[in-house]
Amino acid sequence: MATVSTVTTEPRIAVSATKLLINNRWVDSASGKTFPTINPATGEEICQVAEADEADVNKAAQAARKAFEAGPWRRMSASERGKLLNRLADLIEKNEDDLARLEALDNGKPYQVAKTADLPLVIGCYRYYAGWADKIQGKTIPIAGNYFCYTRLEPVGVVGQIIPWNFPLLMQAWKLGPALAAGNTVILKPAEQTPLTALRVGELILEAGFPEGVVNILPGYGPTAGGAIARHPDIDKVAFTGSTEVGHLIMEAAAKSNLKRVTLELGGKSPNIVFADADMSQAIEGSHFALFFNQGQCCCAGSRLFVEEKAYDEFVDKSVARAKKRTVGNPFDPKTEQGPQVDKDQFNKVMSYIETGKKEGAELLAGGNRVGNRGFFVEPTVFANVKDEMRIAREEIFGPVMSILKFKDIEDVVNRANRTEYGLAAAVWTRDIGKAHAVADRVRAGTVWVNCFDVFDAAAPFGGFKQSGIGRELGEYGLSQYTEVKTVTMQLPN
Ligand code: ADP
Repeated sequence: MATVSTVTTEPRIAVSATKLLINNRWVDSASGKTFPTINPATGEEICQVAEADEADVNKAAQAARKAFEAGPWRRMSASERGKLLNRLADLIEKNEDDLARLEALDNGKPYQVAKTADLPLVIGCYRYYAGWADKIQGKTIPIAGNYFCYTRLEPVGVVGQIIPWNFPLLMQAWKLGPALAAGNTVILKPAEQTPLTALRVGELILEAGFPEGVVNILPGYGPTAGGAIARHPDIDKVAFTGSTEVGHLIMEAAAKSNLKRVTLELGGKSPNIVFADADMSQAIEGSHFALFFNQGQCCCAGSRLFVEEKAYDEFVDKSVARAKKRTVGNPFDPKTEQGPQVDKDQFNKVMSYIETGKKEGAELLAGGNRVGNRGFFVEPTVFANVKDEMRIAREEIFGPVMSILKFKDIEDVVNRANRTEYGLAAAVWTRDIGKAHAVADRVRAGTVWVNCFDVFDAAAPFGGFKQSGIGRELGEYGLSQYTEVKTVTMQLPN
């Protein structure tokens, strides 16, 4: 059993933006179609949202191209771009309470978490990239001969950005921040499950004063609106965050259309390694957070929890007790730690993985059931005695399902940790600095956390090895994915 919230009321939340944002105007979709966005805590419709498709992507691509080639954006100074981004950050901060509520309503994450975790990271990300806008500079290069050679870092051009539903506002910030700082124009598609906060930020983008066509926001479905972005011949780059399966499709579409630049942030099955010499209470709480944070809907979730044999039994007992104490329920109850899964499909997927775990012989020690009979709530679930070959230890569940595996020594655990197609993140818990560095050195992952998990900062790059992605987001590396290098060579008079 999980601890269940008893609060049943929800605040009234106004939704002001439900159309497509193209060329700084709110418009219906060309087809006139709309789709419902659902409150995952109740299963009920919040409102209808305009549904973009190919015709709308074409229109937005034209607006973005015009803004890139001929609009005031192109002539604006870099520091002016930075000012606009700072103004957007200020407006988000001014409206952070409403944005956190809207995020909780549309996504299901606890309002307190949206307010204290997502929103500060969102604001920090826009401010960080605002600071970069006028510091994007090339080099002078001492080439042979009587030449002056220098590089310029220019914007890539019109950029398509397809984002997921697990951190709607934050993924929008990770995408828009560097793209706009570098001077690109954008067509952004939010996930169909969670379009509302992206559209609200669209209103703030207009209020901040971004010129026409610079940011276009098109809610819609993946294969239609998303597919049209990925294969569009006049979009110069596509940045995608989502499943590895769709990542393959995006890359294929980019290859078949115009070789647009591709950056991908995809799935994971991140090893979280606990040595017996770790501070156990810190490792237990940290590993609980690593897996259950955001309803388990994190691409970097510590979903293969390896515990050294000497500490295994104690670790399992205490992790089970902690999971049973986790408060599940109404996202607007301040005591709630875990809200619903984002939609019915994700709920069904998580429940079917729990069945798979049971069938494959893993030991179910906590949870395993639905909570209540409305909305998409799942009990915090813990499986012990999980083996490497089980599907729950290999495939991304994207839900509140912890799998605890046992390991012998560092050699054993590093080899097993790397036996996966993914390489997004890893963590190690130990008091031995040598072991910590050895694991950080040998694990094939884009991020390694030592005695912590999910520590994010706009300045620290994030992204995947192997099938967890291509390129990096955040930091200077993230910015570099939004520029092209131009080399200029000039003959000097003798
Ligand atoms: P999930 O399975 O977690 O929903 P997806 O990878 O399907 O993750 O979705 C992430 C984002 O990718 C969403 O915005 C979704 O609409 C979009 N998407 C899904 N399928 C496609 C596709 N075939 N082409 C382009 N975008 C897609």
